[in-house]
Amino acid sequence: MKALQYREIGSRPEVVSIPDPVVGPGQVLLTVTAAGVCHSDEFIMGLPAEQYVYGLPLTLGHEGAGIVEAVGAGVSGVRPGDAVAVYGPWGCGRCLMCARGEENYCLNAQADGIRPPGLGAPGAMAEYMIVDDERHLVPLGGLDPVKNVSLTDAGLTPYHAIKTSLPKLGAGTTAVVIGTGGLGHVGIQILRAISGATVIALDVNQEKLDLATEVGAQHTLLSNPDAVAAVRELTGGRGANAVFDFVGVQPTVELAGAMAATDGDVTIVGIGGGALPVGFGRVAYDVAVRAPYWGSRSELIEVLDLARSGAVEVEIETYTLDEAPKAYERLHAGAIRGRAVIIPNA
Ligand code: NAD
Ligand code: ZN
Repeated sequence: MKALQYREIGSRPEVVSIPDPVVGPGQVLLTVTAAGVCHSDEFIMGLPAEQYVYGLPLTLGHEGAGIVEAVGAGVSGVRPGDAVAVYGPWGCGRCLMCARGEENYCLNAQADGIRPPGLGAPGAMAEYMIVDDERHLVPLGGLDPVKNVSLTDAGLTPYHAIKTSLPKLGAGTTAVVIGTGGLGHVGIQILRAISGATVIALDVNQEKLDLATEVGAQHTLLSNPDAVAAVRELTGGRGANAVFDFVGVQPTVELAGAMAATDGDVTIVGIGGGALPVGFGRVAYDVAVRAPYWGSRSELIEVLDLARSGAVEVEIETYTLDEAPKAYERLHAGAIRGRAVIIPNA
């Protein structure tokens, strides 16, 4: 089969021919219908050899959807022909966090060498993919796989971050979204759908800000130090009750900290390596800062339900597998509007 692989440190991803995978006991073989392109792929492909832990060659694609092609011995919950989305942050399935459905925080994944597809295990940017357990599959329930595949990360990750801050986002409150790319433009829609907050979007690119307005942000600002005063002005001096930073570089985490209101939340989702100093007097009173990872199994079910209700629609650009390297070039250049989605069996 054809697959998009990252093969050598510092190289660009390439389309290669590899053997078709064979389904083992307990596993599920999918014909991939869609695979999303995430900035995290770009991040890991930029790591030096000593920090790169994802194995080579790596078949990319941690946002995946497919049709069940075959099931291994003992699989009874899905059958050939089922249309499914893949829950990506695989865990051991047995520890306390996994029992809660929070496999993204599995206590054993690291020690047991369990890695998400596309981030260690072979991913969705291939004609077929293996899913290690049927519990990682959520029925699409009529949702178009191409339009919705990115909900498995670009939807699930902001959903998890926003849900944690919901108690602080009633009517009359303000949420700031920094970085209105793949995750951010979905985050804005989730905020509008499940919270009472007014949404202010920040980006460095005017086209991304236009997209932010289209998907529901009430205000947009260029992401620079002036945005702090602008947010204070828009909020009657109070600041933002929650700031979601989908960039996470030093300048954006500093903006996030500076614009958070008393008792506000700062959530650093972007993996840009920024660090926010927290201590008395460094941020407003009682500001909470967190850096979450992906989301839980139940939250993926919820986010797909939200899409089915019509409240969330991912803006997509589509590519065949042969064109996938071009999608990564455009991601690298910051040119993608919303999310790029690869259709491996187009
Ligand atoms: P993306 O490339 O689609 O979007 C990034 C956006 O940020 C773009 O619109 C870009 O113009 C904007 N941007 C860049 N610099 C900025 C700045 N200084 N201020 C404001 N905006 C700026 O990326 P994505 O796929 O949405 O991913 C966003 C981040 O989230 C990445 O760092 C990614 O690795 C990370 N991520 C984290 C998790 C997690 O679980 N924590 C999961 C998925 C992705
Ligand atoms: Zn991702």
